[in-house]
Amino acid sequence: MHYQIVIVGAGTGGIMTEAQLIKKNSKLNIAIIDPAEMHYYHPAFTLVGAGAYNMDKTKRTTASLIPAGAKWIKDFVSELHPDENALETQKSGKITYDYLILSPGLVNNLDLIEGLRDAVEKGVVCSNYIDPEFTWKKLQEFKGGNAIFTQPSTPIKCGGAPQKIAYLAADYLKNKTFTKPTNIVFATPGTVIFGVAEIRTTS
Ligand SMILES: Cc1cc2nc3c(=O)[nH]c(=O)nc-3n(C[C@H](O)[C@H](O)[C@H](O)COP(=O)(O)OP(=O)(O)OC[C@H]3O[C@@H](n4cnc5c(N)ncnc54)[C@H](O)[C@@H]3O)c2cc1C
Repeated sequence: MHYQIVIVGAGTGGIMTEAQLIKKNSKLNIAIIDPAEMHYYHPAFTLVGAGAYNMDKTKRTTASLIPAGAKWIKDFVSELHPDENALETQKSGKITYDYLILSPGLVNNLDLIEGLRDAVEKGVVCSNYIDPEFTWKKLQEFKGGNAIFTQPSTPIKCGGAPQKIAYLAADYLKNKTFTKPTNIVFATPGTVIFGVAEIRTTS
């Protein structure tokens, strides 16, 4: 169980890095470790939330995306031992490497906002990061009033994703007639609408 290169995480980051390395040198002895059976193309979640894309099309089996020549270890990394160039997995034991690439993505921490987990579990709020099909359901059921879109102040996957669903929802709702006053609000904790200097405008 020794590899020249071990990659932790077969998401977009891990798979793309692996593909680039193999393209440069097909003889590299590389393993990628991830327990996930399915890989999801997250950028399309925005469109699913707005009813413009089918969720099934965002899914691929992880196996189908692992570049030929690389080994997929279907396991979860539980410990890192950088001093020994080694890591522990839940089922496959210890694996050693010459080089390690960590690409395990982000974990949504709903508990950083009091009441958020409860609200998500009860279906009172929806999130494109969790279940975009539910977002689309809620959008279709919207009866008017305040539709509030927001985003966390912490690092998130895709800084633009919370805004994109707000704009797509606004576009969907603009042709509907509501009996009560209706506002679509994008509430951001920052002072700029998008952080990239070339395109940012103040909110
Ligand atoms: C709604 C939404 C819209 C987006 N829109 C865009 C967009 O328009 N444009 C854009 O560029 N980006 C967009 N993104 C962001 C983009 O999809 C992510 O940045 C990208 O998927 C991150 O890839 P990743 O490999 O870092 O993480 P992930 O895709 O999350 O993959 C991490 C992998 O690591 C595995 N893993 C985690 N821990 C372990 C462990 N201990 N052991 C083994 N495996 C582990 C997980 O199972 C997972 O498969 C969007 C994201 C979302 C959620």
